[in-house]
Amino acid sequence: MDVAFIGLGQMGSGMAGCLMDAGHAVTVWNRDPAKAQPFADRGAALATSPAQAAGSRVVFTMLANDDALEAVCFGDDGLLAAGPGLLHVSCSTVSVALTERLTQAHTDAGQRFVSAQVLGRPDVAAAGKLSIVAAGPPADLDAAQPGFDAFGARTIRLGDRPAMAAAAKVALNFGIAAVIETISEQIRIAGAHEVSATQMAQLLVESEFGARMFASYAPMIASERFEPAGFPLYLGRKDVGLAIAAADGAPLPLAQLLAERMDAIIAAGGGARDWSSLGQV
Ligand code: NAP
Repeated sequence: MDVAFIGLGQMGSGMAGCLMDAGHAVTVWNRDPAKAQPFADRGAALATSPAQAAGSRVVFTMLANDDALEAVCFGDDGLLAAGPGLLHVSCSTVSVALTERLTQAHTDAGQRFVSAQVLGRPDVAAAGKLSIVAAGPPADLDAAQPGFDAFGARTIRLGDRPAMAAAAKVALNFGIAAVIETISEQIRIAGAHEVSATQMAQLLVESEFGARMFASYAPMIASERFEPAGFPLYLGRKDVGLAIAAADGAPLPLAQLLAERMDAIIAAGGGARDWSSLGQV
């Protein structure tokens, strides 16, 4: 497959690497060109703008937030200026509102657009084992599937509206934040009675709690390994905010509480630590 990959941060670099490993012809663009150079050294083509990266190919984007995705799509030399034909596969965790706006804008430009949200941290991305939650017209998802197969272990399709995947993703990430806070408080409760954090983490991994989320976060929290951040808390705060916005005014008291805690940690200078530090006092 002839693909472009835009956004070579912690997640995108692993995903683009998997596309190259799978033998796809990859063109890359990143705002900071230094992050694109290692891909050129491996044989990827270097583009000078998102529009140039696009051509009429399948274009994957993996960018920090709404502002970044807007810049890459609506900016001068952005994807929407690339002409008709391209298929934009949006993997960044962004708002439902922007996802809906992009669905319309790409259609107006004679282009195609799907949302393919990814679950898993940077090491999982680099290993090609992400879970992909996708939504968009089935033929467009089919066209993107070889890419999903390169960086993902499984793809779950939700329906034909890209906004469905965006909404499901922020709901899932809110759930991870709630699990992190829960584990931290469980460790604190038992710790008040000489149960060590390691013992409590082991219980969480080995008991009925040992679902994948508990099993991956409990050891991280117990060992207080918060740096380097695989997923910094400021990005997690973005996602809880996106979840609150996606609920269209429905009450989310737990999400509000988590947002307030995250704001306090960011104000105290802890936003760059991994979001598994969320429950620390
Ligand atoms: P990251 O390492 O901070 O990478 C962010 C990327 O966005 C970089 O390529 C950066 O370019 C680019 N960018 C930021 N602002 C931009 C702008 N205004 N214009 C153009 N490019 C811009 O973040 P990440 O961890 O890869 O996360 C990327 C997305 O995936 C986020 O939406 C995040 O919520 C989501 N996600 C993350 C994880 C995780 O565990 N990390 C897991 C699943 C989903 P520069 O290199 O030039 O700064």
